[in-house]
Amino acid sequence: KRPDDCPPDVEQLGRATWTFLHTTAAYYPERPTPVQRSNMLSLLRSLPILYPCSWCASHLEENIKDHPPDVSGRLALSRWLCERHNDVNERLGKPRFDCAKTDERWKDGPADGSCD
Ligand code: FAD
Repeated sequence: KRPDDCPPDVEQLGRATWTFLHTTAAYYPERPTPVQRSNMLSLLRSLPILYPCSWCASHLEENIKDHPPDVSGRLALSRWLCERHNDVNERLGKPRFDCAKTDERWKDGPADGSCD
């Protein structure tokens, strides 16, 4: 395994970024204020410009054009992000994730308490 204190490769960067994005969506308000919505939109729209993997960024730009972010509330945003991640999974030949399990994966943990 590559040491953790090496600069991230595309996979490590991807895992860290998905962790940040899914967790932020999981804790996004149910009823966001206009300022919260606008900041979330800015965060998502900045990724295709700033994400330091150029081919990932350009795929994401096309994906966001076809599927504009839904920042209307926590569940809608988590679903939108899950679907975008599934688009990447599909392109990379990885299995699709069941979007009904997003809260379990990123916020609540499994019912058996194994993550408590
Ligand atoms: P990851 O895909 O990083 O997923 C991490 C964890 O998230 C999984 O273990 C699973 O528990 C959970 N998860 C999986 N799918 C979902 C979902 N749909 N919703 C919620 N949770 C989920 N790599 C490339 O090679 N080419 C690209 O073009 C590319 N584009 C990317 C674009 C973006 C915006 C990002 C953030 C990453 C991109 N990556 C790309 C990286 C790629 O998506 C993976 O992060 C990387 O390949 C490591 O994959 P992984 O199998 O460890 O799990």
